[in-house]
Amino acid sequence: MIIEPIWTGNAYRNFNYLIVCPETGEALAIDPLDHEKCLKRAADKGWNITQVLNTHEHFDHTGGNDKVIAATGAKLLAHAGAADKIAHIDRGLGAGDVVRIGRTVELEVLDTPGHTMAHVCLLAHDDAPALISGDTLFNAGAGNCHGGGHPKELYATFAGQLAKLPAATRIFPGHDYIENNLSFTLDREPDNARARALLEKVAGQDPENPFITTLGLEKEINTFFRLGSRGVIERLREKFPDLSADPTAEEVFLRLRELRNDW
Ligand SMILES: [Zn+2]
Ligand SMILES: [Zn+2]
Repeated sequence: MIIEPIWTGNAYRNFNYLIVCPETGEALAIDPLDHEKCLKRAADKGWNITQVLNTHEHFDHTGGNDKVIAATGAKLLAHAGAADKIAHIDRGLGAGDVVRIGRTVELEVLDTPGHTMAHVCLLAHDDAPALISGDTLFNAGAGNCHGGGHPKELYATFAGQLAKLPAATRIFPGHDYIENNLSFTLDREPDNARARALLEKVAGQDPENPFITTLGLEKEINTFFRLGSRGVIERLREKFPDLSADPTAEEVFLRLRELRNDW
């Protein structure tokens, strides 16, 4: 399996992806907003885009669909619940569905509500497993819930699905927010040496060649996975004096999400 990140260089800092079967050259284009770059990359590499998949309905993910489909005849895949939000879906997806690309690639569909209520992530079970995480999980951060989502569902997705994936799972998010997110982690946990070292490493990185995290690393540097940390809880209580000294993981997550909204 080839995972080809395509950096859009736009103001929203979107990543698009091509997932490719190396044997047949068939490709799935994920959220191909920058349709010109996606089509050109496929042409340069000799790949044939046969499917387009949207992780969710926001325009910075769906805005390139028509151009890519017009150029390739690709089928459009998205969450079955997005049928009234994304035009011309050919295949509606649900939890446990499998997306096949060529002869060698199989992606498992995860139903991951929270950022929006019709959001899918894609899991590749491979020797080096990989998660295409859209706007649900970012490097060192979590998606917001302003555009049709709900923080409680986002927590349930993090705790009930994402946190249980293998530690070696590589994370491929929908945006390059790693620098800003690591700064938020350090605002919450100033003594997080791993996050500090990583911020130094990725500061000013070229998103054409982005640093790829794993879930195991995320659990060390992503505040939204560090809900039982005494340091996180104590600092959060300075901001939210009504938070108990022994809060649930969900309470910590919801307060972190609230704080991040205005950070
Ligand atoms: Zn979004
Ligand atoms: Zn987005």
